[in-house]
Amino acid sequence: MSVMQKLMSPLPSGGAAEPPRNKVTVVGVGQVGMACAVSILLRDLADELALVDVMEDRLKGEVMDLQHGSLFLKTSKIVGDKDYAVTANSRLVVVTAGVRQQEGESRLNLVQRNVNVFRSIIPQIVKHSPDCTLIVVSNPVDVLTYVTWKLSGLPKHRVIGSGTNLDSARFRHLMAERLGIHASSFNGWVLGEHGDTSVPVWSGANVAGVNLQKLNPEIGSDGDKEQWKDTHKAVVDSAYEVIKLKGYTNWAIGLSVADLTESIVKNLSRVHPVSTMVKNMHGIGEEVFLSLPCVLNGSGVASVVNMTLNQEEVEQLRRSADTLWGIQKDLKDL
Ligand code: NAD
Repeated sequence: MSVMQKLMSPLPSGGAAEPPRNKVTVVGVGQVGMACAVSILLRDLADELALVDVMEDRLKGEVMDLQHGSLFLKTSKIVGDKDYAVTANSRLVVVTAGVRQQEGESRLNLVQRNVNVFRSIIPQIVKHSPDCTLIVVSNPVDVLTYVTWKLSGLPKHRVIGSGTNLDSARFRHLMAERLGIHASSFNGWVLGEHGDTSVPVWSGANVAGVNLQKLNPEIGSDGDKEQWKDTHKAVVDSAYEVIKLKGYTNWAIGLSVADLTESIVKNLSRVHPVSTMVKNMHGIGEEVFLSLPCVLNGSGVASVVNMTLNQEEVEQLRRSADTLWGIQKDLKDL
């Protein structure tokens, strides 16, 4: 008898291990992928974590390093492989693979390079997890969410872009810091395109239900003596600034993706600003993905909140949609 046989007597009625219920896959083990993976692990959101990358040594090293932390985690199985068979039965797949934004490079310049990468990834994911929900993080995230939707054949409610979830988190942090309160106590939404043309919804910014625009009708406009719009400018500039300082951004995006993951795997129906198909909303006529407040539950996007936007905000959203469609319409092989 082996030590194991001497140690434990299996019950005759005891079955084989159950298949995972909340398996999460992260594709791309770069700075962003690993920040997502660690944030998801630390919040106990997955019963199995799978990692995929084309760089085999780096992938193996990351998987081993995480496995060595098993004692401190509640995710019993951590696996990784370049073969997508390792991702089978994922409930949620987070796509962070791609070419990184270079210093000074606009997100939109990254498109074609990343479209080609996605052609090798998305069909493989869907083949092994046909019932998964996808969260796209790679940039330019709104265009690549559209690309993923097209390549996956999945219904639109199961293809989500991390969108302005991060921009909104940055906005809430910066606004709250200026007001001397915690980020969760400043309620404000940045919608539209992730990045340069994102739309701060000043008309809804509030603390404890007190609307800031009622206190200062000029808030967010050029004529505002207090220049609150600088806060949104700082949001737009912040990715470029962090990239300039440390080469990439990863912690905040990782934490924000874990928050989305929680709403999905725990079926919470919380509202998040994420990128979803917005055709026929706010007068947008094309198939583009932009961020609006979305109710996320176990099946993905359950519904979209109909924001009461003012005319200027609607026009900004439409301009983002036009910019994105201008790029998407020229993409080939989708
Ligand atoms: P990185 O270069 O550190 O990592 C990218 C990883 O993708 C690498 O490990 C690379 O080997 C892998 N990869 C490349 N091609 C692949 C393929 N075909 N299959 C599997 N893996 C592949 O980059 P990063 O800093 O982790 O950034 C990743 C992406 O996330 C970028 O597109 C970046 O712009 C984006 N990003 C998005 C947000 C957001 O808010 N949406 C925030 C930060 C970064």
